[in-house]
Amino acid sequence: MLAKKFQRTKEDFTCTRCGIFVCGDGYTNHCPGCLWSRHVDINPGDRMADCGGLMEPVGLEIRNGETTILHRCADCGYERRNRISPDDDPKSLFNICLLGPFGSRSRRKRRRATRRGGAHGEES
Ligand SMILES: [Zn+2]
Ligand SMILES: [Zn+2]
Repeated sequence: MLAKKFQRTKEDFTCTRCGIFVCGDGYTNHCPGCLWSRHVDINPGDRMADCGGLMEPVGLEIRNGETTILHRCADCGYERRNRISPDDDPKSLFNICLLGPFGSRSRRKRRRATRRGGAHGEES
């Protein structure tokens, strides 16, 4: 059903997060240094998304021996899995591991209605 529309867009970019220069090989969709990505694609490589927000690496998943990073857009919350690349910084990958399984963050986002009644002891 889901047709895979991959367009190879070869493009160099400077990471807006950590500032390193990345030589794109056409598949590069995240910074190998800090692993942050950008929300620029609707289908991989098409650069059709007009969000442009920074996508934070929020989790790692290993499936069939393949490691993917889950990126979540800091602006709109859009999530996408991206395959890691051999250039990715192992230290940064490890840091994502420490974040725990997918979704741990959003689960923690439980809303806490902070009730500040305060005005209790008014008996004199
Ligand atoms: Zn970076
Ligand atoms: Zn976005």
